[in-house]
Amino acid sequence: MGASSSKMYNPSDARAAEIDDMALATNVVVIPYSIILDNKKFNQEAPVSCRGCKAALNMHSVLQSAEHYYQKMQQEPQNDIERAEEEKASQDAKFLKGKYVRDLKPEEIVWVCEFCEVHNRLPVDTVLPTEEKAFYLLKKAQKDETKIEGETKTTEETKDDDETNLIYCIDISGSMSCTHEVLVNEKPQHVERLTLIINAIKQQLREMKETHPNRKVGLVLFGSTVTMMGDCSQKKIEINDSETLNHFEKILNVGLEGGEVLVTKALKDNTDTLQLTLSTLKTSGCTALGPGLLSSLTLAMQGKRGSKIILCTDGLSNVGLGTLESANKLQEAQEFYQRVGDLAVGKGVSISIITVQGQACKVDALAPLTDRTAGQILRVNPANLDLKVLGSTGLIATDVKVRGIIHEGLAFKNERAEHLHNNNSILFKDIGPVSNQNQAYFEYRVKATEELQESGVNLDELGYLPLQAQITYTDLQGNEFALIVTRKQELTKDQSEAEKGIKADILAGYVEKQSANLLLEGKADEAKKKNEKWSQHMEKLANNDDMDENNRVALEVWKAQNQQMRDLMEKGNQAGALSVVEQDEITSQLYAIKQKANNI
Ligand SMILES: [Zn+2]
Repeated sequence: MGASSSKMYNPSDARAAEIDDMALATNVVVIPYSIILDNKKFNQEAPVSCRGCKAALNMHSVLQSAEHYYQKMQQEPQNDIERAEEEKASQDAKFLKGKYVRDLKPEEIVWVCEFCEVHNRLPVDTVLPTEEKAFYLLKKAQKDETKIEGETKTTEETKDDDETNLIYCIDISGSMSCTHEVLVNEKPQHVERLTLIINAIKQQLREMKETHPNRKVGLVLFGSTVTMMGDCSQKKIEINDSETLNHFEKILNVGLEGGEVLVTKALKDNTDTLQLTLSTLKTSGCTALGPGLLSSLTLAMQGKRGSKIILCTDGLSNVGLGTLESANKLQEAQEFYQRVGDLAVGKGVSISIITVQGQACKVDALAPLTDRTAGQILRVNPANLDLKVLGSTGLIATDVKVRGIIHEGLAFKNERAEHLHNNNSILFKDIGPVSNQNQAYFEYRVKATEELQESGVNLDELGYLPLQAQITYTDLQGNEFALIVTRKQELTKDQSEAEKGIKADILAGYVEKQSANLLLEGKADEAKKKNEKWSQHMEKLANNDDMDENNRVALEVWKAQNQQMRDLMEKGNQAGALSVVEQDEITSQLYAIKQKANNI
């Protein structure tokens, strides 16, 4: 198999690699979504795109004057030109409506698309982008009329402009009174689970007051009933009748109507009130997790886009909507969490969930919520809970869609058929919200000779092949952007040549995430088989004497991590024999790998 060389990458300069936007390994591309935050410089209009494959005009494109174009056309074999006429006339040519352009005017120039080779006519004043990465403003945000102004707004100067809502949704059910052994002044003491979780929240609030003083923090408590405390400066709202606890629209109405005034105070003016309320919480009753979560969402979605929910629980939802305790209501519960997820995605709210080690929660029912909303799921020992890890992640964009375009001589690998177009050289995926920790991985391969003939591609004529990622998204201010990243990659038939510039950490990240994804989709056999193959490849790379020190370290780390992955695969194989707690531990670990912080 031919592979792309990474000569552009200088392996001795690991720092340069860390800030690389679209790093390439043997045949894997990774794009950290955090590059969205670099949009200081942007074009005011949409990118120019190819009429054939929709690739965007980029710094590697070549523009020709009409005169030059006609001269070249003279050299084209006659039968090609005739075929072009036929193509033009053909009504059912879906993809190429005529490769060539005719009747050029002096005020036009031609761009032969480097991806699909379709010829495009462009205005003569067309300017090529000068960098591999280019931002385009597609639609400016409309002024948000519904924004709720904090009544305590001050004119105090502050650098932080994060005015999002953060809602802590806290389980206060009976089981939260269990104790854990912790060291207090070096002496072991038994402290209630709820107290430990509250202490971690208090610590986070103290830190957040300094880093994000304008955030608005609210509390929602759930036991057998739900109490919406909000920022604790107003009258709280109680949901305690069974009819409302079991009714989606009713909870939504209660939260949206009454909740309007519940979360208005900036953290910098309200920390003491919140701390005081947190100190008074008592445990009791069952676990109305579903209604608690939905109530929290009504408070979070009234804040700015990018608002967050942090749900802390130690048990199985068993009161009202989203009950996971009875098998015959499971389908209904899944539909409920799906609906909550849809609503959160639409409003740009991310949901993170903290569960307790050793306790059954049915993580598999809850974790997709965190995944879909760019949140995180943590399985913790309350005795050493530190919420800092959640503090550093945050939603950065919503409505993210990715179009990957590679040269027609290449094909995407390990992607679902419904996402692929144009003989596997175009990939389109609807991603939803992303956090600054998420990244996209793509794997591609050079097509086999037969496929190349079918696509009419002769790779021997080409020294370089282009790759392009088009990311469209809505930022947290509501502006719609397109980000285009284009790379030209040298082609080599010598595999060892390609592997010389490899970045083992990118390959390792890709292998881990692919394995976790396949296991979570229930494809244990496929996961095992592929992991076996990838392992052989990594093993071979590790034994390569030319490997530099950074890669050697990355491969060692990967070896240990992959052993854990294999253990998970083995355990997962006994699915039916596992208890809910054991299954929860496995599922949490797999999601943690899937959502793991960007490590390149
Ligand atoms: Zn094209």
